[in-house]
Amino acid sequence: MKANEKESTILIVDDEPTNVQALAKLLKNDYRIQVANNGEKALAIARGSKQPDLILLDIQMEGMDGYEVCRQLKEVPLTNTIPVIFVTGQNTVSDEEKGFKLGAVDYISKPFYPTIVRARVGTHMSLKLKTDLLEQIAMLDGLTGIPNRRYFDERFQKEGRRALRDKLPFSVIMMDIDHFKGFNDNYGHGAGDNCLQKVARALANTLLRPADIIARYGGEEFVALLPNTNSEGAGKMAEDLRSAVESLAVINEYSSAARVVTLSLGVATLDTDGDETMLSELLKQADDALYKAKEGGRNRFVFAK
Ligand SMILES: [Mg+2]
Repeated sequence: MKANEKESTILIVDDEPTNVQALAKLLKNDYRIQVANNGEKALAIARGSKQPDLILLDIQMEGMDGYEVCRQLKEVPLTNTIPVIFVTGQNTVSDEEKGFKLGAVDYISKPFYPTIVRARVGTHMSLKLKTDLLEQIAMLDGLTGIPNRRYFDERFQKEGRRALRDKLPFSVIMMDIDHFKGFNDNYGHGAGDNCLQKVARALANTLLRPADIIARYGGEEFVALLPNTNSEGAGKMAEDLRSAVESLAVINEYSSAARVVTLSLGVATLDTDGDETMLSELLKQADDALYKAKEGGRNRFVFAK
């Protein structure tokens, strides 16, 4: 997430070095600049690890023209949210129409008028940053600030399919705070919210790899998604998560499991020989295992059968 427009990046695509220089000069004090002198390079940058926030795209270029670059950008989810502004010398109404139909957000005509270029770029950049922010907020749980169930469900589908395709193990851990109702009823909802925030932070801090995710699944339920993790690794993680919450030492006198707030956990793994059906049952399996952990006395983890 970018804090301000100064940290956002514009990709300038033009086969004329003088045009690239002119645009870069106009914008370099306000944005980071990337450049490409043909369509293939532009697509490679847009699909790469440092994606631009906005693209200024020349229409007439040798080889792949700007329309085709735009069409390919808009065709896939990876790049279709990057706003494209066409830059053109020949701006007939039908050219503009064609550009807008392909998904461009605006047009800038040559020769450049600095004030107009800055104003149009500024407008679309701030819209892009607001959209990114809204997108991010929609994926976070309001109380705890960790990812919400919607985000988890999306990632679960994506990582699960990847695991099947690449024949990699894939694990999930369902978690539930023990006797949280007693905690809430006796200490009040403010203390309950506070407890949920502490638990969420402790769980999130226990994860080791960037691909691992902890999400709030429901009221006092959390879930971990662990790509490329076999059952042994998932068991270790479950114990670390359990212990992290116990170590918070948040008193709960209304628990039969311990004097402090604890977690019960259910661990399920999709093995390397897993299939689509097994993937669709993985969360249910983890949930069943969680239920067994509750039955077995809580403050523990159980593997799914
Ligand atoms: Mg050109």
